[in-house]
Amino acid sequence: GYRARSAYKLRQIDEEVDLFDTGDTVVDLGAAPGGWLQVAAEEVTEAGRVVGVDLQRIDDLDHPHVETVRGDMTEERTRYYLRKALGVDPDPDEDTEPERPVDLVVSDMAPNMTGEYQLDHARSIHLCRQAFDTALELLRPGGDFVVKVFDGPDLADFREDVEAQFQYVRAYTPEASRKRSSERYLIARGRTDSPVAAGD
Ligand code: SAM
Repeated sequence: GYRARSAYKLRQIDEEVDLFDTGDTVVDLGAAPGGWLQVAAEEVTEAGRVVGVDLQRIDDLDHPHVETVRGDMTEERTRYYLRKALGVDPDPDEDTEPERPVDLVVSDMAPNMTGEYQLDHARSIHLCRQAFDTALELLRPGGDFVVKVFDGPDLADFREDVEAQFQYVRAYTPEASRKRSSERYLIARGRTDSPVAAGD
């Protein structure tokens, strides 16, 4: 069994669009308690590796190719430790071509819900943008990005920004998300080989 029911959402997304390949390097943001990590680890097998990040501690998984980092993805320090875990230069030089070893970035990060729709939506979009920045920093050309979003007024702008950096983007609501009516996943395939990062 899985540690979290949310594992079935990732299973469904994978069944829908065939996300994983054996041997992939995967980054999982908002990974606690580790359901998505279990799914990703099964899919990439020992030929691949998975690095999970969360504010919360993640109990060890029984997969030697899974590593976890505890930290807040809105902090540069956490991104430093993520780069370290991936084995890329944690202090990249402005002038050198960055290493981009990651095939897939997934983010299930969610804010603590207040029940106040506007605030929850704004916080969700903020986390999505952190995940998107991380994806642009680490994904190889052709790599994929999946991110949980809560629907609302800022989603269209975010989606457009993602569309500018990937071959195509679609929104998908897995069966397991249906009870939470505003929750969806953006699935972005094929990061384009643009040297220009978002925001430039
Ligand atoms: N996909 C996970 C699984 O299958 O076990 C469940 C993830 S849960 C829905 C959302 C997670 O996002 C929480 O564990 C929360 O701590 C994490 N999170 C929220 N904000 C974060 C941040 N700024 N940095 C890192 N993790 C964050």
